[in-house]
Amino acid sequence: MKDNVELICTIGELSELFREKSDVRGFLNRVVTTVSSHMKADVCSIYLYDEYLERLILEATQGLNPSLVGKLIMGTHEGLVGLALKELRPILEKNGQDNPRFKAVPGSGEEKFQAFLAVPILQGFSRIGVLVLQHHQHDYFNRNDMMALKAIASQLAATLENAKLLMGVTQEKSEEKSDESPVSMIRGQGVVEGIGIGRAYVISPDRFDSFLGEECPAEARNAGLGEFRHALSRTEEQLQALETEMDEQLSDVGSLIFSTHLLMLRDSSFTGKIEANIQEGMSAWEAVTERVESFLKIFSRSENARLREKVQDLQDLGHRLLRNLAGEEQDTGDYSGQIVVARELLPSELVKITAQHVEGLVLYSQGASAHISILAKSLGVPLLYTDDKDLFSLVSGTMLILDAFQGTLMTNPGPEAMEQFRRLRDDRAVSRDQEESMEETTRTLDGERVYLRATINLISDIKTAVRLKAEGIGLYRSEFPFLIRSSFPGEEEQYLVYKKIFDGMDSDVITLRTLDIGGDKILSYLPDSEEENPFLGLRALRFLLQNKKIFVGQLKAMLRAGQGRPFRIMFPLVSSLDDFREARRMVDKSVEFLKRDGYDCDTIPELGVMIELPSAVVMASDLAKEADFISVGSNDLVQYLLGVDRTNEKVSGLYEARHPAVLRTISLIQEAAARENCPLSICGNMAFDPEMVYFLVGAGVRNLSMPPVQIPRIQSFIKKIDINRAREDSRRLLGMNSLEEIHSFLETAVNRI
Ligand code: PEP
Ligand code: MG
Repeated sequence: MKDNVELICTIGELSELFREKSDVRGFLNRVVTTVSSHMKADVCSIYLYDEYLERLILEATQGLNPSLVGKLIMGTHEGLVGLALKELRPILEKNGQDNPRFKAVPGSGEEKFQAFLAVPILQGFSRIGVLVLQHHQHDYFNRNDMMALKAIASQLAATLENAKLLMGVTQEKSEEKSDESPVSMIRGQGVVEGIGIGRAYVISPDRFDSFLGEECPAEARNAGLGEFRHALSRTEEQLQALETEMDEQLSDVGSLIFSTHLLMLRDSSFTGKIEANIQEGMSAWEAVTERVESFLKIFSRSENARLREKVQDLQDLGHRLLRNLAGEEQDTGDYSGQIVVARELLPSELVKITAQHVEGLVLYSQGASAHISILAKSLGVPLLYTDDKDLFSLVSGTMLILDAFQGTLMTNPGPEAMEQFRRLRDDRAVSRDQEESMEETTRTLDGERVYLRATINLISDIKTAVRLKAEGIGLYRSEFPFLIRSSFPGEEEQYLVYKKIFDGMDSDVITLRTLDIGGDKILSYLPDSEEENPFLGLRALRFLLQNKKIFVGQLKAMLRAGQGRPFRIMFPLVSSLDDFREARRMVDKSVEFLKRDGYDCDTIPELGVMIELPSAVVMASDLAKEADFISVGSNDLVQYLLGVDRTNEKVSGLYEARHPAVLRTISLIQEAAARENCPLSICGNMAFDPEMVYFLVGAGVRNLSMPPVQIPRIQSFIKKIDINRAREDSRRLLGMNSLEEIHSFLETAVNRI
């Protein structure tokens, strides 16, 4: 009897171990030993695929002649191993030697083995290699073994892809006998998928040193007043151009974002003093450096949080001035070709850095926050969080490859690895195929309709949502214009942002969420906003109900923007019926105020409740009776239900949407909503996790809201769901009481699809 579940778990552990230690050979050997012993096979081998030379190389074996490791090489047109990879399908033979494609390898010792099973190892579109089992007994492996081996291959794929690259790099390096810095790998969690290749730009933890030590290049050594003024006007032009670009592309969060830079440039205590110093004999380079450093001291030591936030602006500005002084004929992108490495970043810094064409971002987990990840997702910049302190020993200028698909940061990669990653980056972009085969509406295999709507963070997401056929907006997170600015945006400013949402998407379902700040979304301009336990503090609707002026201002802006169209407003973190009633009263009041001010306000939005707290789950029936719709905020629901901070890396392993309590809770909410005939939708990460989507659709959920880029993948997945089977599977899942059981059940169910 082979215990496949146990084997899959062991493989998971092995992969974890590899993540920690990166010993490639040791890892591969342990995999083949473990798999062969669990599957009671005589042979287990791993062949990795070299896509340049289009050949497979035996990299580990248990049972074949070990001296062939690294030496047994075959093309994809050769043997059954090649066939598995070429045709991307498992090969199961009672006796491998009976298959005409079988190729005997002299000296391998395989003549004594009859039964043969090979499965390709694939990671997305990339061919990673082939996993092979052999046994001396005729007809030893069956279809269950094949399924198990497929599951193992898919479990191993990501790790093997890394192993492959690391091997490529190590080989390269050992051949080179170089005295260069060693290649190393920092591991973390890819938060925004993507690949970045570029040089490190390290923002030092105390945000001060990084400006110092900037060497004066020969070209700038004799620069004086004339050169400085030229650099100044060039800097100003570049910033204006960036500002215009931001205004066009990211009007909700990007406008005026470079205003501090521009103000500084026009400040006499900054620019005036630089000029005075040059006139007194300092070189332009020294004078700029002196001024930036002295401002940095003042800013970084200030009691005022807003001033401390300007430190990075000042660093940016200083670098830009010096680069222009050195006459670097670069475009406006300070960060193009660079990967920013930092302990933490502010949302406004993130927007600025991205606007300046950064390749990717690596942040220390302790500085991680949900809004930074959300913002980075909308900005489409690859982002990796890591808690590896080696990050802090990185120096600016180090060559890096950031793979936020796999959660790795490779330092000092060789040319071959760079080339491989460039190709990988291009390959990922090719997944547009899925996009091209999209349909207007989403249905399961048997025609059951599921609505995929967009979660919008920035106005710029709307274009993508329309292109990817989102059927409306399931969630607009309204907090970003608040997070980026340096003071509360007024009603008019908000109205213009919301108007763009309605102008950008023609749908009956436009769901605007009222401000959700607090938790880890802190407005630095809000006095006394620091709290001991911010996630349990003055957050979301609680904040608005204590700050009714802000609440009414936002509601009025939303109501004005939505006139003449059906639309919906929903409230985050509702904990009771009373919360909802009070929020609804504020909407009534806002309508009254608008009418009093002479606005037409005839369109009254549907009002919805976000279920994110256990208390709201208990009250779900009552809420469903009064609200026009319900939306489950799954990110918070998991956090509050399981008592696991969604931003704390240390407990990220415990943050588990597949927890039986979560599944049962969702089902309770779904039943309550159905009983009361109240539309239910799910947003948050659960809504685009295929395994969870399978459960949700089976449990009766028909509305999902997700980042627009996820829609093609989820649509193509839903198209393959057999609804009766999914219903039955969801029922079975609700009867399970262990996370492990749910995990393996869902994995198998989804693999089967
Ligand atoms: C959620 O909690 O799932 C949700 C969508 O809200 P946010 O992630 O903005 O808290
Ligand atoms: Mg939430």
